[in-house]
Amino acid sequence: MCPCNLVADAEEPAESPRLDALDDYESLDSQADARFERIVGLAADLLDVPIALVSLLEEDRLWLTARFGLALPRTPRDWAFCSSRLLGEELLVVEDATLDARLAGAPLVAGAPGLRFYAGVPLVTPQGRRIGALCVLDRRPRRFAAPQRRLLRRLASTVVDLTESLATARALERKERRLSLAELSQMEQIRYGRIFENSLNEIYLFDALTLRIVAANRGARENLGYGEPELRDLTPLDLMPGVGLASFERLLDALRGGRRRSVLFERPQRRKDGTSYPAEVTLELDSSGDWPLFVALVQDATEKRTYRRDLGRALELTRSILEACQEAIASFRPLYDDKGEIADFECLQANAAARRMHGLPAGEMVGARLLDLWPGWRGTRLPGLLREVVLQREPVTLERSYADGRRDGWFRISAAATGEGGLTLVIADIGEQKQHERALQRSNQALDQFAGGVAHDLQTPIGQIAGFTSLLERHLGTDIPPKARATMGYIAQATENMSRLVSSLLDFARLGRLTFDPQPVALRQLVEQCLEEVAGELGEAKVSLSMSDLPEIPGNATLLKQVFQNLIGNALKYRSAAPLALTIHGELTPSSLRIFLEDNGIGIEARHAERIFEVFRRLHADGSPYPGLGMGLALTKTIVEAHDGRIWLDTARPATASGSRFVVELPLSLRESGAAGPAAPLRGRCRPPAA
Ligand code: ADP
Repeated sequence: MCPCNLVADAEEPAESPRLDALDDYESLDSQADARFERIVGLAADLLDVPIALVSLLEEDRLWLTARFGLALPRTPRDWAFCSSRLLGEELLVVEDATLDARLAGAPLVAGAPGLRFYAGVPLVTPQGRRIGALCVLDRRPRRFAAPQRRLLRRLASTVVDLTESLATARALERKERRLSLAELSQMEQIRYGRIFENSLNEIYLFDALTLRIVAANRGARENLGYGEPELRDLTPLDLMPGVGLASFERLLDALRGGRRRSVLFERPQRRKDGTSYPAEVTLELDSSGDWPLFVALVQDATEKRTYRRDLGRALELTRSILEACQEAIASFRPLYDDKGEIADFECLQANAAARRMHGLPAGEMVGARLLDLWPGWRGTRLPGLLREVVLQREPVTLERSYADGRRDGWFRISAAATGEGGLTLVIADIGEQKQHERALQRSNQALDQFAGGVAHDLQTPIGQIAGFTSLLERHLGTDIPPKARATMGYIAQATENMSRLVSSLLDFARLGRLTFDPQPVALRQLVEQCLEEVAGELGEAKVSLSMSDLPEIPGNATLLKQVFQNLIGNALKYRSAAPLALTIHGELTPSSLRIFLEDNGIGIEARHAERIFEVFRRLHADGSPYPGLGMGLALTKTIVEAHDGRIWLDTARPATASGSRFVVELPLSLRESGAAGPAAPLRGRCRPPAA
């Protein structure tokens, strides 16, 4: 609070006209006029006080236009002593501020310079507007008698008169200067040339002294709706409602004084028809010509604003989604060591789940180091892997067990590089899922062992039945009645079927316990071997094989051969009346090999596409011309998935195509054991190739 001002505070309704009046007088921010300085010096002498001031109140501060005995040029407005209560008073005298409840605690009273006495008269314009005050102050209490009060009032009137005549002089100067502007604008227009005229932005030039617009390009004229001559009657302030001369002059002063090369601000720009639009204005001073000119470049900021608003909404939406997400999501920036290598990461943002996972409030999470959040990762391969993610910009997903004494379990970690060289981690606690998986694995293993055991145990009695049946046949010799012979034939057939079923079961059970060491496998050779083995059955069949130039893949040749034996065997078995046509074609994708096996057999309805891969699932009743156990495709699928591959029936074939087409996809490299992905029965049991 400064006891040197008698005008209204911000709540005062008459504020706006008062500020306009200030602008008219152009006193704010201008260099202290020697004439005002003389008046305050005179006031101090005549009234025998150490301090005298002319103060003007602008929007946010008190401006001490002329001062005697006080170095302070301006004070924040909320220091101002005045209140609307005082506005009506002609003269305010405070003989001892320490005795005045309103002032005793004010900083300039309670602290340095320890002001005690105050007398002030408002400066009132002929229109009745109060724009500031003339005041005298002292560091000790004093009386202020009637003659002194009269003197102070008269001096205040002199200040107002002087301000008035300065404003009039300025207006006159402008008028004269305008006379030469037509010529000036032509000159300047030529200098700025066609670029100026044809620019899509609004550009106008205005006189650095009078602020009158001297030229405006087509963009400005069209957008504002003014003709060139009309614009020349205006100043930028006429186009920017709400910008006061004082604050505008301050901006311009920064350019005039060379403190800034350009200034940028956003203000509504008013068109001739009264409508306005948000505009981004860049101002520069051009003092290269005869007359210094300001160049204003104006861009319509409507789109920018809409974009900012939409962006704000989108960000808010993303933020709320991230916050609601159950997985811990956090973004990091890399921290480098002396050698310029990434040594750690610093958390920039973390969602609620991440904060919960680490038991940290947002304030502590932000700024935390990654290796402090996950100390158990120190000395493991993971930090190096995350570095690679940032450098190679290749996302990864891993499942890792974790223990640091405080926390242990299993976590799924997805890491991706962000646009600015940072890292985003999405981490899910999969401890429970892992427990279920392990329980399932244990029960599957037990089941495999049981099935294997049963199948193995069954082989002996089945073999015995077959053996006893043929023994019986031999004992009876030729005496067997035909019916009994037929029955014995059925027994032999059934036993053989049972034996095949049991050995398939055994195969299946063995497959479940199989461990293989992947070796490079050339699929073309494998398929050729399978075809040779059934050459006799193929007979007249038309076989077309195109699998050249395919790279080897990691896998187990014996198992993979079984895949193609099954598929080729099925093509032979499920042939139609037409001679068999079998096409086997291989294709290389960036990460896998795809083998297409297409036949012209009886075909499979699309609705059975999934079921045919189930164990013991057959599409043919017993006694159909197509014998089988319904295990071939199930075994095939298990083997393919053990190689991290996929097999499917292609149901998207043209309606005219008969037969069926199977697709086997095998990756060019096997996933590391423990990597994320759908659980396949053998996954985790096949070891990756040795590096
Ligand atoms: P199986 O041949 O012993 O019945 P699979 O598991 O090999 O058992 O096949 C499952 C079912 O898929 C078969 O019963 C058959 O209906 C169908 N199938 C498999 N391959 C073909 C094929 N190439 N053409 C038509 N149907 C097929």
